[in-house]
Amino acid sequence: MRDFDVLIVGAGVVGATMASLLVARKLAAPGRVAIVAERFAPAYPMPESEWDLRVFALSRASQRLLKVSGAWANLPSDKMAAYERMRVWDARGEPRGRGSLGFDCAELGEPNLGFIVEGRALQHQTLRAAVAAGVVCIEAAVAGVAVGESGVRVSLGDGRELGSQLLIAADGTASRTRELLRFETAGHAYHQDALVAHVRTARPHERTAWQRFLPTGPLAFLPLPDGRSSIVWSMARAEAARLRALDAAAFGAALTSASGEVLGCCELTTPVASFPLKLQYALDYVGPRAVLLGDAAHAVHPLAGQGLNLGLLDCAALTEVLSEGGAAGFFGEHKLLRRYERSRRSENLLAAAALDGLERLFSGDDPLRMRMAGLGLVDRVPFIKRQLAERALGLTGDLPGFLRGEAGASGLKADRLSRRR
Ligand SMILES: Cc1cc2nc3c(=O)[nH]c(=O)nc-3n(C[C@H](O)[C@H](O)[C@H](O)COP(=O)(O)OP(=O)(O)OC[C@H]3O[C@@H](n4cnc5c(N)ncnc54)[C@H](O)[C@@H]3O)c2cc1C
Repeated sequence: MRDFDVLIVGAGVVGATMASLLVARKLAAPGRVAIVAERFAPAYPMPESEWDLRVFALSRASQRLLKVSGAWANLPSDKMAAYERMRVWDARGEPRGRGSLGFDCAELGEPNLGFIVEGRALQHQTLRAAVAAGVVCIEAAVAGVAVGESGVRVSLGDGRELGSQLLIAADGTASRTRELLRFETAGHAYHQDALVAHVRTARPHERTAWQRFLPTGPLAFLPLPDGRSSIVWSMARAEAARLRALDAAAFGAALTSASGEVLGCCELTTPVASFPLKLQYALDYVGPRAVLLGDAAHAVHPLAGQGLNLGLLDCAALTEVLSEGGAAGFFGEHKLLRRYERSRRSENLLAAAALDGLERLFSGDDPLRMRMAGLGLVDRVPFIKRQLAERALGLTGDLPGFLRGEAGASGLKADRLSRRR
């Protein structure tokens, strides 16, 4: 049986980042942290010149965390784009007028509002950083978990056994490890799919993330560095299936119409992928010698691109809490783990509820006036607007010290953030 300080199941961005942080923050020595995953290769191979269909809008807090973990510096510059503005509007309003809300990095004293990063590049570099830090990668399926007084024993599908002081489940929404550990979840399906594709538009995206709330669901255009935009278009499952069956020209025409022609004619340049959407949250985040992280703990509607950002903040909070515990040996300390649960569960539930509320408010035809007035009102009240912007940048709440106040990197002053704590 091989023995580790921390065993992480799941080699997604969250699992890989957590593994790197444990070594980077000197909580565990190289060779003492392992990631177990059924597969480490990218989900689907493609030529380097192609773009993965999955892209992530990453907040400032995520950027800082990925710098600490060692992944940020190696992200290829042609697979990421800073976005400087955001425009959100109701289908009956106008993108820059009535019923709209806008954010501009210049108004906030920020260099940008965040980055759009290609999924495959992010996945690759987070895992590479983990391997470079000395994290052990074990390709196998988890078959069983036995929690004891002094540690956890994990049996793998190929018959091997691993021992660890702490087991972290970062194996996504359908986490098998969460199931084996008997954590309960709650939530509901949205009965919606998100269609994802990259499109060329007649007008330039102006480094702006555009989001139009249609009665059928939100439609977002995220700016890519090659001038195209990545769309995330959520709608009822049957309608999503109908649109996916259209040929490229008909899909482009439907998209152009749904976007209110904000960027002119849209031309589809990739296949269209589809993701089922649900709200799901674990009732507990920690158990004896076990922790849930990322989508294994919470899955939210993608309308504000927050899921991964929340998962990375989980990594930051767990790292902070474990640092307070001191050296290895404290990894399984339940009181310590509960601190992580307290800080992240409430933040994540708040975000999930806010996104769920937005989805409900904007879907359907009523109450149209209220939602249009709401967006316009927020746009005109600088205090609320700033609060929203800070939240989107990931710079609010109980941020760990090592993510606060990176000198010179943010116009949102470090001392103001510290005072709020
Ligand atoms: C359409 C869409 C758009 C989105 N856009 C954004 C965005 O712009 N910004 C943002 O922050 N978030 C976004 N999200 C949310 C984001 O995708 C997730 O929150 C994020 O991928 C969660 O990362 P994770 O590492 O926790 O889980 P996952 O990415 O699901 O990774 C889990 C890993 O565990 C592995 N695994 C699964 N089961 C097992 C097992 N039994 N044994 C071993 N390994 C296993 C998987 O192979 C995978 O590698 C979006 C979501 C959707 C659906």
